Order: sequence, then C-alpha cells, then structure tokens
Amino acid sequence: MKILIIDENKADQMHSADALNHTHYTFEIDQMDTAEAGLLAVKAQAYDLILLDYPLLIASGMELINELNASEMGRVVVMLSHADKDETAMKCLEQGAQDFIIKSEITPSRLMSIAMQARQCKKIEGELLESRSQLQRLAERDTLTNLSNRYMFEIGLEQGLALSKRHNTGMALLVLDLDNFKNINDTMGHGVGDTLLQTVAKRLTKTVRGGDMLCRLGGDEFAILMHDLEEPELIDYLTKRIFETMREPLIVDGVEVHLTVSIGVATYPGCGEGANQLLKCADIAMYQSKDSGRNQVVFYSSDVHERIMKRVELERDLHSAVSNKEFYLCYQPQVNCETEEMIGIEALIRWKHPEKGLVSPEDFIPMAEKISLINDIGDWVFETAFAQYSKWRSQKIAFSDNFSLSVNVSALQLEQSDLAERVEKWLKEYDLPASSIEIEVTETSLINGSAGCATVLCKLAALGVKLSLDDFGTGYSSLAQLQELPFSVLKVDKSFVKSIDQDNETNDTALFLEGINALAKILKIETVVEGVETETQIQICQRLDFDRLQGYYYAQPMSAEALEHSSLLQQLDAKK
Ligand code: C2E
Ligand code: MG
Ligand code: MG
Repeated sequence: MKILIIDENKADQMHSADALNHTHYTFEIDQMDTAEAGLLAVKAQAYDLILLDYPLLIASGMELINELNASEMGRVVVMLSHADKDETAMKCLEQGAQDFIIKSEITPSRLMSIAMQARQCKKIEGELLESRSQLQRLAERDTLTNLSNRYMFEIGLEQGLALSKRHNTGMALLVLDLDNFKNINDTMGHGVGDTLLQTVAKRLTKTVRGGDMLCRLGGDEFAILMHDLEEPELIDYLTKRIFETMREPLIVDGVEVHLTVSIGVATYPGCGEGANQLLKCADIAMYQSKDSGRNQVVFYSSDVHERIMKRVELERDLHSAVSNKEFYLCYQPQVNCETEEMIGIEALIRWKHPEKGLVSPEDFIPMAEKISLINDIGDWVFETAFAQYSKWRSQKIAFSDNFSLSVNVSALQLEQSDLAERVEKWLKEYDLPASSIEIEVTETSLINGSAGCATVLCKLAALGVKLSLDDFGTGYSSLAQLQELPFSVLKVDKSFVKSIDQDNETNDTALFLEGINALAKILKIETVVEGVETETQIQICQRLDFDRLQGYYYAQPMSAEALEHSSLLQQLDAKK
C-alpha cells in the first residue's frame, strides 16, 4: 500500500511515518513538505492514502483538498493539531476529506485502521467503477462486435446533425446490410454467423476514417456516420474500401465464405434535416441496392424513393392477396408442333390488385420469394390448377392421354423437403395421373439451387411427374443440369424465337435452335418453344422438328372459362 504524507513540520512527518512503520504492515511511504510538492507527487503516481496537514489546507483556502480529490489518486485524510476543533473537522469532511485524525492521537493502531479503511474503500470504489463502466458498455456497445450499438448510433446521429448545422458542414449516413446473411446463418449455424459478424466488424473498422462512427444497428445491419464531409468524393472512397475489404473471403472453421454488402447512402443537407428522415432515406437507398442485384452502393434520390415506396406498398398488399382471393390462374395452350393441336396448358398466375389493377408475376413472384410468401402462393397455385384440371378431365373435355398441365414453381419451393409428398397427396386428392403433370423450374433459379433442391426434384421425378427446364438458354449451367437432374422437358426461352425474325438474313438463331434441338433429341428430352408469335417462327420451328409450341400466335394465357370456349379446344372436340 502506498501512502503520502504532506506536512510542513518535519518532526510531525517523521512521527506519522514512524507510527506507520510500527504496524504489522509494510507501507511504501513518501513524505512531502509543501502542498505543491504533494500535488506533483500525486500527479506522478497513485497513492492509496494521503495524510494531509491541516495548516496546508488552510493556506490553500481548502482548494488543495479539491485538487487532491480531483486527481482520484488516493483517499485524503486530514491531520488536525487540536482535539477541540470539531467545527474544523466538519468543514474538512464537507470539503471532501474522507476522515480526520488529531495529531496527538496518531498511533500505529489508529493509522493502521485508517489505512485498512482506505484500502477497503478503494477496493469497493474500484468494483463500483468497474460495474458502472460495464453497465455503460452494455448500454452503448454491441456485445458481439464491440461496436457502438443502435442507441449510441441514434445519439451520434442527432449530435452529428446538430454539429453539421452549427458549423455548416456536410454529413453522410451509410446503412450497410450483408447480402444473403440469413442463408449463411441458417445453413452454417448461428455460431458461424456470429464469427462472421465479428470479422466483418473488424474489417469495417479498418475502412472508416478517424472521426467516423461505425455502429451495428442489429442483425447483419451496420451504419457509418461520416462527419465533416467536405467533399462527396469521400463517400466513394469509403465505399470502394468497404467493397475491397469484403472481397477477401472469410474463413470460418476452415470453410471459405464469400460475403457481399449492399449500401444505401443519405447525405445532409441534401436528403433532409432530421435524423429520422436521414435514416429513412439511407434505408430506402439500401433497399434499392438489394433490389437491383445487391453488392452495390445506391445514393438516395426521390426517384428511388417513389419506386421503393411503391414496392413496399405492393409487398404489404401481397400478404393479404391470398386470403382476399385476389389471385387467379390463366391457362396458356401448348400445341403439337407438327399437327398444331392443343396438347397441353401452362397455368400462369395473375394478381388483380384492388387499386393497382393487374400486377405482372414477373414483379410479384420475386417479391413473394423475398418476403417468404412464395410457398403459400405456390400451394395455392398447385391446388387451384389441379382442381381445375381435374374438373375438366371429369367433364370429359377432349384431352388426350398425353395432354399435360404445367405448373411453374420457384426454386425456393423446391427447398421444402416435403414438396414431393404434398404433390403426391394433391395428385391423389384430385385424382390426376402424375404423368399428366409438368413442373416448370426456371434455369436461372436453379443456378443457386442447393443439394436439397436437387433431392426434391428427384423425388418429384420418381412420382412420375415430368420436370421441365423453363427459360432455357437464359442461364449458364444448362448442359450440366440437363445431365445431372431428371428433366424430361426443355422450354426454349422466348428471346430466341424473337430474334428469328430479326436475323432472318443470317439465321444464326435458327442454327442455334437446331443445335439445342439436336442436343435435346440425344438426351431424349422433349422440347417446347415459347413465345411464338409469327408464321415465320412457326415454320422454322416445324422445319427444325421441335415437339411443342406455345405463344400468342396460338393463344394468349386465358381464364379457365375462356379456355373452355377457345377455338383450340373446339378443334379437339370436333376431331373427337
Ligand atoms: P414463363 O413460365 O416462362 O411463362 C411464359 C411467359 O411468357 C408468360 O408470362 C406468358 O404470358 C408469356 N408469353 C406466352 N406467350 C408469349 C408470346 O408469344 N410472346 C410474349 N412476348 N410472351 C409470351 P407471364 O404470365 O407474365 O409470366 C411470367 C413469368 O412469371 C413466367 O414465365 C413464370 O416464370 C412466372 N410465373 C407465372 N406464374 C407463376 C406461378 O404460378 N408460379 C411461379 N413460381 N412463377 C410463375
Ligand atoms: Mg413457365
Ligand atoms: Mg419461360
């Protein structure tokens, strides 16, 4: 324990030191003669106890005690010369002395008890201090990454705005959201997810400037506040650094993980005055970044705002669309390429929004996938299409044995491990042969498909249901997938027939189509050409010997009722 004695009187100094040295403890004792020397000593090192002579205190007008206390270096005990100075003692205590001792009462045991008390107090103070800073850390810090948390971020944002207003400087708010983090968390486990978040936090810390504030807002969302923004180019500079640091793969448990990040930027004063407004703008820009393919930075603009708000509204409305019965199915005929007789129909979903009218499936299906509604919608499509098809079959509508009903499924639906079992149940329920059903999966959606997805496809094929690779030619892994997965039908994307008319001169497209057809024939896969609209296109497809055709030339997608009255169906009836 370290003790400092500050006393002008050398004899008194020695007396106190002697008393301390006669206890059972060993103290480290420093002795000073003046207040100035005492203060210097206290500033140089920490003491557990300071014994201060009363006259020195009087000389400083009680200031000395404040200074000693302010240094938080030790507990000050004032030594008084006379026993009768009760009032003085009270005054000292009021000023901040921890205790007082009358000089004539200084004995080893009395000083030892004061020293022990000082030690005990210091220990308790230390514990209190630690728990206070722990509480503060909890309130201000994110426990996983040790970055500032949302609470501190909100304070920082308010303060930053106030400073920017006062000093007339710019400020930027960047909201960052990791792409597909949920998938990683779900597939690799939360432990891995946590480690990744910690690594990302460390990397981001290295990218920000000294005065910038980096926070974790929660989940996989981070924010950066750039104060004193002299030039907007600094934002570009920072985002480039962020993308660069994220490009390096993260290694967790020996597994290489590639993470990307979507960034939305809002600036003060450009995007608004208030903290909430700025945050909303940055969120909207981030949302747009996700929407337009992720792994990019989007600066807030009012155009973006309008577009995103429309999307957000649509997403909200999509939640109630099934229960409000706003969906219905259209059916588009497919014809035999040679005879041009109807030999199948594709069910295509339609959403009739109560205010916005018809919304294209190309717009709302990706939305439904994003907000995890696709499985509910997909189930509704299966049941509605099966029920309708079953009704037609029981009405003895002239469907031949090889007539098929095609249903589109999203790759996310194939992630449901029990999809095949449910399809089997619906087939039984609606009394439909599996061979009369085709399930269409788009090529692009399969590219990121998991192993689970392949298993479900195999189970479906095992039921006897045909699998059809939709929009063939728009993805990359076509050949591999055709070989590895049990597809029995290939639907050539409509973009190919579209270019038939355009490059009639060179006929490159026709050559390409010929190649696809040859490949399909070798693999014993049936072919459907989508999007046929003209006679030229049909003639080329017939010459190339495709199996089926589908397109506006024959019929648009139509309601069940319209199909019942369609000329294609009447032709079939007439032939019967
Ligand atoms: P898809 O499965 O490739 O369907 C063909 C799309 O091409 C349909 O658009 C159809 O109306 C359109 N089409 C047909 N013939 C022609 C033509 O001659 N010319 C042109 N330009 N277009 C033609 P639709 O109905 O808007 O559907 C778009 C996409 O939305 C579908 O493409 C499919 O991927 C998806 N989709 C539709 N219904 C469902 C569904 O129930 N579930 C899922 N998961 N996706 C669906
Ligand atoms: Mg389709
Ligand atoms: Mg298609």
